[in-house]
Amino acid sequence: MRLMKPFIPYGKQSIDKSDVEAVIEALRSDFITTGPKVSEFEKAVCDFTGAKFAVAVSSGTAALHCAMFAAGIKEGDDAIVTPMTFAASANAILYCGGTPVFADVIPETLLINPDEVGRKITSRTKAVVAVDYAGQPCDYDALKDICDKRGLFLISDACHSIGAEYKGRKTGTLADMTVFSFHPVKHITTGEGGMILTDNADFAAKMRIFRNHGITTDYRQREEKGSWFYEMEYLGYNYRITDFQCALGISQLKKLPGWIDRRREIACIYDKAFRDNPSIVPIKKSRDVSHAYHLYVVRVESADRNSIFTKLRNAGIGVNVHYIPVHLHPYYRKTFGTGEGMCPIAEKAYGQIISLPIFPGLKDEDLKYVIDTVKADCARNPKENDNSKGKIRNNVF
Ligand SMILES: *Cc1c(COP(=O)(O)O)cnc(C)c1O
Repeated sequence: MRLMKPFIPYGKQSIDKSDVEAVIEALRSDFITTGPKVSEFEKAVCDFTGAKFAVAVSSGTAALHCAMFAAGIKEGDDAIVTPMTFAASANAILYCGGTPVFADVIPETLLINPDEVGRKITSRTKAVVAVDYAGQPCDYDALKDICDKRGLFLISDACHSIGAEYKGRKTGTLADMTVFSFHPVKHITTGEGGMILTDNADFAAKMRIFRNHGITTDYRQREEKGSWFYEMEYLGYNYRITDFQCALGISQLKKLPGWIDRRREIACIYDKAFRDNPSIVPIKKSRDVSHAYHLYVVRVESADRNSIFTKLRNAGIGVNVHYIPVHLHPYYRKTFGTGEGMCPIAEKAYGQIISLPIFPGLKDEDLKYVIDTVKADCARNPKENDNSKGKIRNNVF
């Protein structure tokens, strides 16, 4: 028992001296908002992922909005989305006047099920929004195949999966547009920030205009021409990111490969610790992917999740639940009449999942404490009629 327990969060940023120095240097330059660091950060993420174009914006949510706009989502259009995500993935469809249609997930991975996507397509469907839940890329070959056949845009919400791979190809190159978030709990941070990656020059151009009020020239282009004239072509937003945030992003990106290695190491230690424990079932990993482990999620099938959650929180462990299925949120129920029974696999998982701490700075001793506490609490809180004992599992799906 540790007497003075510090709180161990489920995720946390790592900021070191070089990050601080990079931001200070940017602050001392002539540019506070859009300046050279924005395009430098965009280029660095293109180089890292292999995507052709990148558009940096003020948040992952803004990036999703930009992608929906570029895909041309408008009133009367549907976009198919997973319920097992943060609400922003679906909200962005609403921002453009479209309607989210929820397709259930695969039980083992909690990733959107391509068969379910196929079943939900109608003449109104315009796009599919796939979310790389926990850091594991979706089955992009299957999704791309469906989208190509039906003329739909495939948008990847890869807020969990920068640096992950699907069949040897990096996230950022697996869909028509890919969205990253740089919120502090994600792999790399700019405080708030986001980016869209694409190989489509038209999409990129449209999103650059959209992040700047829908205005077709930025202030520097006007300055060069010695002109005051500009035109607003679309109803855009102010989704610009600042130069000093991008300076932080550039500095963070350099450390990303090492951080992903540490996340994988932590996941491997968890996998081994729970391997023969029938009451703690980690979400499975597909053979086709290399996982970026934004989250480490377990299902407590034979135990009471809520009481384990409370026990772990009381023990100073910042466990979390990712996610409340989007279609169960009151706004969606009220607006679209969604509710229980629409996506039974996601709903069942929601009652069982817990996200355990995983971040590069997690200390080995804290990891051991988390494992020991989780094992002890799951053993102490059996659900009645538990008949899952003795199951042997293989964590690769
Ligand atoms: C974090 C996150 C977002 C939103 O990103 P912000 O930068 O917080 O706006 C969207 N989708 C998913 C899956 C996320 O995890």
